[in-house]
Amino acid sequence: MSEYFGIAHITTGNALRINRDLETELGTPGSFIDRGELVPDSIVNEIVEVEIKKASGFVLDGYPRNRKQAEYLSTISEIDKIIYLDVASEELIKRLSGRRVCSSCGENYHIEFRPSKKNGKCDLCSSELVQRSDDQEETILNRLRVFSEHTEPVLEYYINREGFVRIEGRDNPEDVWESIRKIFEEG
Ligand code: AMP
Repeated sequence: MSEYFGIAHITTGNALRINRDLETELGTPGSFIDRGELVPDSIVNEIVEVEIKKASGFVLDGYPRNRKQAEYLSTISEIDKIIYLDVASEELIKRLSGRRVCSSCGENYHIEFRPSKKNGKCDLCSSELVQRSDDQEETILNRLRVFSEHTEPVLEYYINREGFVRIEGRDNPEDVWESIRKIFEEG
């Protein structure tokens, strides 16, 4: 989306992983990430606010993750569309547990759905592929619990708003992208 529409990609997950060892009064981001818990709102909101102020258009990825963040977002920016990619838990577990990421450039792979051609190395930069610390089965299950407790209320917050769209996320990436593109280009 970011490349196609020429807008900023604001992803709290990546920003937090880059700053995983940053010491804050509330602990390091990495300590929350590794348990599959949400990083405190004050840290995340600050990241998003700084990035939104720099951007002239943006896609938010992984934010807002709870109702307080959604309320905070409404005080700093207007958003045109809210896209809910709906994927069943069993499918998410399969996708996350098989995900591998490049330790250098961050490119994503999947052992079954998108294996690298170079056997454990990144096709783009040849660096080693690793499993994210929070893609272990136990942490994935906690992330799903956190989703139903904290992020489902975000769905309720947006569901009746103008611009809310639910997309079937079970489909292959090309079809999901096609659905998203149409929403923006054809309304
Ligand atoms: P993601 O890459 O979006 O799956 O995020 C990975 C982890 O980063 C999450 O499980 C949380 O620990 C943390 N994280 C990412 N985005 C947020 C957010 N908006 N609020 C709180 N924690 C977040």
